[in-house]
Amino acid sequence: MNILLLGSGGREHALAWKLAASPLVDRLICAPGNAGIAREAECVALDITDHAAVIAFCKANKIDFVVVGPEGPLCAGIVDDLESAGIKTFGPNRLAARLEGSKGFTKDLCRDNNIPTAAYRRFTAARPAKDYVRKMGAPIVVKADGLAAGKGVVVAQTISEANTAIDMMFGGDHDAELVVEQFLAGEEASFFALCDGENAIPLASAQDHKRAFDGDTGPNTGGMGAYSPASVMTPQMTARAMDEIILPTMRAMKAMRTPYKGVLFAGLMIANDGPKLIEYNARFGDPETQVMMLRLMSDLLPALIAARDGQLKNFDLRWYPDAALTVVLAAKGYPGSYSRGSVIEGLDEAAQVEGVEIFHAGTKAEGAKILANGGRVLNVSALGKTVSEAQAHVYRAVNKIRWREGFYRRDIGWQAVKREQKGS
Ligand code: AMP
Repeated sequence: MNILLLGSGGREHALAWKLAASPLVDRLICAPGNAGIAREAECVALDITDHAAVIAFCKANKIDFVVVGPEGPLCAGIVDDLESAGIKTFGPNRLAARLEGSKGFTKDLCRDNNIPTAAYRRFTAARPAKDYVRKMGAPIVVKADGLAAGKGVVVAQTISEANTAIDMMFGGDHDAELVVEQFLAGEEASFFALCDGENAIPLASAQDHKRAFDGDTGPNTGGMGAYSPASVMTPQMTARAMDEIILPTMRAMKAMRTPYKGVLFAGLMIANDGPKLIEYNARFGDPETQVMMLRLMSDLLPALIAARDGQLKNFDLRWYPDAALTVVLAAKGYPGSYSRGSVIEGLDEAAQVEGVEIFHAGTKAEGAKILANGGRVLNVSALGKTVSEAQAHVYRAVNKIRWREGFYRRDIGWQAVKREQKGS
């Protein structure tokens, strides 16, 4: 088969690495890709926001199946357009992708289907939103309705902080909408299910680290590292997440005639009384995919095709029992402004450390040199028998990388490592 993968980040490198290992693949093409993906796939400079150009490319290159990585094209309806042109595509269509694209849509769906989530109200003006905040008290959470690349959420510790967030989100934008919701306490986990419109199978769980600096301090980022499995996602908690959250969502989407196909990424808060939905994403996680693909034993491609074809009933995926961990190397200044073009050295030595795979997120090749070309630049990842072992492999590899303009967290996986130390 000829496969086209859309995207250019660490998630797409991990997907390309796994897809390239499939015996079903003849040609693997990635648009636009990055310097690491170029080792697994042919990279092409296609503008993926230009759906007509993507369709023309698929026809010219006899593409059998398209895999969409990021949420932007999903919410813009690229699946609808490719499928209308007769090209099979993995991912939800535009209406189904509203589970990520509109927080208000998802909250209403939860309310109407008794899916556990934080109590909330939707607002289109600042004054009633502030009245609600005053009534509910702090801590409280303020969220912009649409896609905001992880920057549309403020967990306010005080009423005045919440009011500032409300003013900021409405500032100048007359069409803005926001959700104000109850603060949930507990431990967070990322949970993934593969969905075919009717059936869903659980994938692995993971925990990510959203804050920029050690000790979970500093600004929120797209994610500075992750590990899998998440110890809070016991088999019993996984069954509850499927029964109480994922499957009712699938039934509701089908009843609305917008069945959900693709990967459904549930951000969960594991509270004392069980799992609660914080948010949905309509795609694989980044950096969670990097650890999930290391742990996946089965061929990924037939699973993605079965999801697209509505054939997941009785489908089974096998996983290595090992743990996996990934550390993000980011450009100094990220998630604020940062510079591009600095040289990264030592990658080949680092890749030789036992169990290690290096996925590129924002890199560019210039001759034999690898240059930084984004905020999150590399994902140094490894398998190990335990999270502690995977963590040791990763940091041994990170220490071999010479890149003065980069930084990384030194404590990825700390929750699991602490638990493992207590248990041993
Ligand atoms: P989201 O973009 O909705 O995943 O939110 C980003 C982060 O904000 C989450 O990963 C949580 O750490 C935090 N968060 C969001 N909603 C809540 C909530 N209701 N209670 C506590 N923390 C939350």
